[in-house]
Amino acid sequence: MTTTTTLACPHCHSLNRVPEARLAEGPSCGRCHQPLFTAHPLVLGVDHFAAHADRSELPLLVDFWAAWCGPCQKMAPHFERAAAQLEPYVRLAKVDTQSEPTLAQRFNIRSIPTLALFHQGREVARQAGAMDAAGIVRCTRAALAR
Ligand code: ZN
Repeated sequence: MTTTTTLACPHCHSLNRVPEARLAEGPSCGRCHQPLFTAHPLVLGVDHFAAHADRSELPLLVDFWAAWCGPCQKMAPHFERAAAQLEPYVRLAKVDTQSEPTLAQRFNIRSIPTLALFHQGREVARQAGAMDAAGIVRCTRAALAR
């Protein structure tokens, strides 16, 4: 029996079913034919949040940030590097709390940057404050191993 993972495309947000054994082989989206993994965080807004946080079976790590926030800017390249390391088993996304106030409110984001990890519709971990790439990878893997 082949185990498959349902995940949302970072480009067109369609759901794809990919055999787990093929996740690391650079799968493409069945609808838009673009790569399902780009080694970069995707920019996520309220319209497509549920596709990635609820309907996808991949854990979703969200960086709640804002352009005016110095620590957020400092963490951005670390979050990029963490995406390359955590894919294809975790999806990384950035939510701009200024352009997406609905999401910031829904998740009660009080300080930025805040990293929140979602898995199948549930928030499973949260960490406020900037971290480096190694810290992001370590915290995420630890939270998923629980
Ligand atoms: Zn697509």
